[in-house]
Amino acid sequence: MDARLEAIRDTVLARNPGEAEFHQAVVEVFESLGPVHDRHPEFLDAAILERLCEPERQIIFRVPWTDDAGRVQINRGFRVEFNSALGPYKGGLRFHPSVYLGIVKFLGFEQIFKNALTGMPIGGGKGGSDFDPRGRSDAEVMRFCQSFMTELYRHIGEYTDVPAGDIGVGGREIGYLFGQYKRITNRYESGVLTGKGISWGGSLVRPEATGFGTVIFTQEMLKTRGASFDGQRVVVSGSGNVAINAIAKARSLGATVVACSDSSGYIVDEAGIDVGLLREVKEVERGRLKDYAVRRPGVSYVDGGSVWDVDATVALPCATQNELDGGAAARLVRGGLLAVGEGANMPSTRDAVAVFQEAGVLFGPGKAANAGGVATSALEMQQNASRDSWSFEHTEERLTDIMVGIHHRCAATADEYGEPGNYVLGANIGGFVKVAEAMLAQGLI
Ligand code: NDP
Repeated sequence: MDARLEAIRDTVLARNPGEAEFHQAVVEVFESLGPVHDRHPEFLDAAILERLCEPERQIIFRVPWTDDAGRVQINRGFRVEFNSALGPYKGGLRFHPSVYLGIVKFLGFEQIFKNALTGMPIGGGKGGSDFDPRGRSDAEVMRFCQSFMTELYRHIGEYTDVPAGDIGVGGREIGYLFGQYKRITNRYESGVLTGKGISWGGSLVRPEATGFGTVIFTQEMLKTRGASFDGQRVVVSGSGNVAINAIAKARSLGATVVACSDSSGYIVDEAGIDVGLLREVKEVERGRLKDYAVRRPGVSYVDGGSVWDVDATVALPCATQNELDGGAAARLVRGGLLAVGEGANMPSTRDAVAVFQEAGVLFGPGKAANAGGVATSALEMQQNASRDSWSFEHTEERLTDIMVGIHHRCAATADEYGEPGNYVLGANIGGFVKVAEAMLAQGLI
């Protein structure tokens, strides 16, 4: 790494102790940025990097609620408003027991660059709670969401900060959160949250957008090698919102998706995963993947283990951070891997990324490949602002154009900086320069 950036990095790491995921995200970005600072010494003079690594605002709050047995439960809520140089803070809420400040900051930091890459006027933020919605009744989830919003509402707004979903936060949770915001503020402010239901301000394609977008980005990478999804053998991790829609899109482009996972295990369905059954089990019944295996002949379920033991030509990690390590990457490469598109945020460890890049595997990092979700959220904000709602076809066309544009920006930036095909470098530099220029123009704030 560039010596000037090393010193800044060390200060950032020392100022934020115990936040391993945030450190990982910062180090990865810094490793790409040396050449930018050779061309733009003004960024160093204005301390752009130091400012970029310090969130504009961090909110941590108590979330008290009662469970169905009448017992008091206490969770911790977070919102990190990281950077507003390009627009209102924008990024999802994650409800998962692993959530702490270091995870929210890593996600918020990545979001700054991702949002810049979309070309839409949105800044970066992220939030969530260590609340675990799994196994909770709808009434418990509603009481939790209402309590969470009772604090969060004062910090957000359509021109200030616009949250959306992430792990553990889907349409149900966004509904309860929006209802409470509306009740407290007495405003029907549609643009304050995205991922809403279609009849109350949501956008068609938003539920599908992250998974669809990941596949579209990966398809663009494949095209650079004269390939496509048609005939590929695909393995996907996760079986939530991003995973299911990535599976659906890959199938529609002619791929066979043979495996996917949840946090308990994985299924192998050599005939190709049946998306209808998967949606039924996971989205309607909120069940587990092993229920899918019970219902479909010829499917094997592996309890525990790693879905990355299954050979694939295209891997789409769509579950969570650091789920694919160097060993798994090496196994996949030996099995004939051609491309990786990250639907999740930072699912590949730094070792895994190095293995993919050394092996010449096409590697699309999450901040580029999964940007379709937030981009479609920005389209939802546009529809809310104009009191309009667009057709599925029109919205999907916009999403496709945006993903093709992000691929082009990453590839062109990598070429410009002398590393053709390095999408990590292309995404980091492409996103950074946009934000840095805006910060420079806006003065020392
Ligand atoms: P969901 O909650 O819908 O699904 C998450 C899936 O990942 C579930 O199958 C879950 O299994 C699995 N999973 C979660 N945590 C772990 C873990 N620690 N170990 C193993 N499996 C795990 O979330 P999303 O699909 O929305 O999000 C998935 C990823 O995509 C995240 O990294 C998120 O940040 C990223 N992302 C999401 C966007 C969106 O629009 N939703 C936008 C951009 C990125 P189980 O059910 O067993 O917990």
